[in-house]
Amino acid sequence: MLADKDRIFNNIYGIHDKSLKGVMSRGHWDGTAGIIAKGRDWIINEMKASGLRGRGGAGFPTGLKWSFMPKESDGRPHYLVINADESEPGTCKDRDIMRHDPHTLIEGCLIAGFAMAAHTCYIYVRGEYIREREALQIAIDECYDAGLIGKNNKNGWDYDIFVHHGAGAYICGEETALLESLEGKKGQPRLKPPFPANMGLYGCPTTVNNVESIAVAPTILRRGAAWFSSIGRPNNVGTKLFMVSGHVNNPCTVEEAMGIPFRELIEKHAGGIRGGWDNLLAVIPGGASCPVVTAADIMDCPMDFDGLRNVKSSFGTAAVIVMDKSTDIVRAIARLSYFFKHESCGQCTPCREGTGWMWRVMERMVTGNAQKREIDMLLDVTKQIEGHTICALGDAAAWPIQGLIRNFRPEIERRIDEFSRNAAASPVLVAAE
Ligand code: NAD
Ligand code: SF4
Repeated sequence: MLADKDRIFNNIYGIHDKSLKGVMSRGHWDGTAGIIAKGRDWIINEMKASGLRGRGGAGFPTGLKWSFMPKESDGRPHYLVINADESEPGTCKDRDIMRHDPHTLIEGCLIAGFAMAAHTCYIYVRGEYIREREALQIAIDECYDAGLIGKNNKNGWDYDIFVHHGAGAYICGEETALLESLEGKKGQPRLKPPFPANMGLYGCPTTVNNVESIAVAPTILRRGAAWFSSIGRPNNVGTKLFMVSGHVNNPCTVEEAMGIPFRELIEKHAGGIRGGWDNLLAVIPGGASCPVVTAADIMDCPMDFDGLRNVKSSFGTAAVIVMDKSTDIVRAIARLSYFFKHESCGQCTPCREGTGWMWRVMERMVTGNAQKREIDMLLDVTKQIEGHTICALGDAAAWPIQGLIRNFRPEIERRIDEFSRNAAASPVLVAAE
């Protein structure tokens, strides 16, 4: 279990003073000017050495991403954009950071902006997060007043931060859709490459980072890359905010070491499974786009990128959705299919048509009004969508269904058998052709 002294977010539940004075007493904004004085190369190399992987879901190395920004200016301004459009079902950590520990993010924005030669930062906050953006704006105003950011600030790098409100579209959490939206256009993903570091906001070099990735940076730079990389396992290092929801006794957001085994995470922080461990049915380990995993597979699984890949799922944002045996697992995944159908931007055919097709078949699988051969047809459609779309939403819609069929095929077949039996016994029900 992670020691308290190694926790970066010491106010995640908002029990301490979150004002500038309060956060300074807990070690934030300490020596920021000194970090900046060490220069861009030092900061980027230290971030690379820390092994931090992006905390928004994809796990791309953060230091490497920063290094993609052009070293020489070609006259275009550079931008840092923070993706605070947290919308993946189950994911609620950036909300806690902005609401209760916003200065960790603001200090990170300044340092990261300097490292990338950006004088301007936009924080794109999910439209529904009203209290969060208010808390963030109060903290930003405090920093301007205290001369920590703005023109001629004490930290030696002119810097402006603007909070931008989203309008409730999940797809705007995709980084290029977010940039389009920020530019005032319809939020639809762009083809990549070019990646934002070459052609981002207003066609200028831009880095888009998740809230948590940026908020941990100042502490990493203060305590050193070696400290951060000593926590967790190789390739999966550092501390991470885990969000445990669903059928546990104490749903929570908690900062833990990467790689903590699932059972330990739930026992130590979430008060165990409702009704005891024998009552655990399945877990979606990293947010809605991650394949569902059986109780047997997840029990001793290290909760990190490699651990979850080994059980054919993914770490995502570490939004751990726990489902006990009272769950209708087919209906639960069908509900996610509806979500992705609803949120598809409609730009590319496999996603626009496929998400609707998958959802409609899933709805029939819920009642059993289907043919067994349709299970493989459904699987085949998920494979046709996966990897064939402009952005990852198509993959995200396909993976939960793949996980369901891989792990719970007998339950789908049982419903089809039951429906057929009932249809044979009753003239009112008609089985699917
Ligand atoms: P991605 O792997 O395409 O990219 C990740 C990041 O790395 C991006 O910033 C991208 O620009 C950069 N990158 C990747 N390859 C690069 C290259 N060759 N050169 C330069 N930069 C490169 O993934 P993505 O589409 O950004 O994110 C998908 C993930 O987002 C999913 O795994 C899902 O878990 C997560 N997600 C999170 C939320 C949330 O609420 N936090 C919502 C939806 C999805
Ligand atoms: Fe839009 Fe879906 Fe295509 Fe992404 S995959 S661009 S959400 S239609």
